[in-house]
Amino acid sequence: MLDRLYSRYHRVEFLGSDPLEFPHRYSDPWDREAVALLAAVLAYGNVKQIRRSVEAALERIHRAGQEAQTSPRAWVAGLSQAEGLTQARSVFKSFVHRFNGGTDIVILFGLLSRSWKEHGSLGAHFVSHLDPAAPDITVALNGLMADWRSWLKTDPALRALARSSPSHSYFLTAPSEGSCCKRWCMFLRWMGREERGSAHERLDLGLWAPGSELADKTFPAGKALHPSQLVIPLDTHTGRISQYIGLTRRKTLNWLAAREVTEALRLCDPQDPTKYDFALARLGILSLCRRSYRSEICSQCDLLEACRFARKGRARELRGARGLA
Ligand code: SF4
Repeated sequence: MLDRLYSRYHRVEFLGSDPLEFPHRYSDPWDREAVALLAAVLAYGNVKQIRRSVEAALERIHRAGQEAQTSPRAWVAGLSQAEGLTQARSVFKSFVHRFNGGTDIVILFGLLSRSWKEHGSLGAHFVSHLDPAAPDITVALNGLMADWRSWLKTDPALRALARSSPSHSYFLTAPSEGSCCKRWCMFLRWMGREERGSAHERLDLGLWAPGSELADKTFPAGKALHPSQLVIPLDTHTGRISQYIGLTRRKTLNWLAAREVTEALRLCDPQDPTKYDFALARLGILSLCRRSYRSEICSQCDLLEACRFARKGRARELRGARGLA
């Protein structure tokens, strides 16, 4: 059932409906890491709004330097000094994406820049907290967030920026606070899943997977992010559909729910439970699954046989038809 859904929607034809499309425009792994992070943290709100904001942010970065076309990698690397952060603030002046402003983007890239400087890549920083035998990414994500928050207190330039823009905290979510960390789990899925299927199925980037260029050049020996350690990015769409098909009974979409759904998906693929995420999310993003039973839509759905919501809707419809007869 889930494999049928995967075959239908886990395809490059649907990339345009997802922020994952942005890092695919680049080939350098550091460009990809920076752009993926940007696209992931801005992935809240509606799809059009997200695309507009990521596009606008990238345009500002490309126009920022002296060169005709500044790469995201070069731009982020320049933010390791206070002077770079000040210039970046003017590049992102008046940028707004819902709850976040331009200073928040500068803070995010300032943190990324320091991770690059100290570890070689964000992936290397992340896996420094990841035990290869850990069941999932909980401890590592908490560790990365703790480091970044401590830098925001101890680095004078970052501290000044953080004080002037408290909304930056919306970018920094940690499992320890109970959040489902949807945007970080999505970013980590992009980084940790290495696609092995045909060219049509190659969506996730696998930048931090074992044997990747970033892992080979910057990760400590024996460290990498394994797909089996990923946790599903739970949002209103995947959360709702997960409830419909019995992957969780939890009403609140928090870290416990994300882990519970991941454990349920592990029964379908123990080594790669989040592989179904992109396809599941399409049902909501493409408005294929509505918040009501629609026989013409549900009868075509790959998940129909497991969907409790559709079963109830169908039963209601039949009762109604009998009442009319
Ligand atoms: S069967 Fe209908 S309600 Fe259930 S997941 Fe599919 S489209 Fe949504």
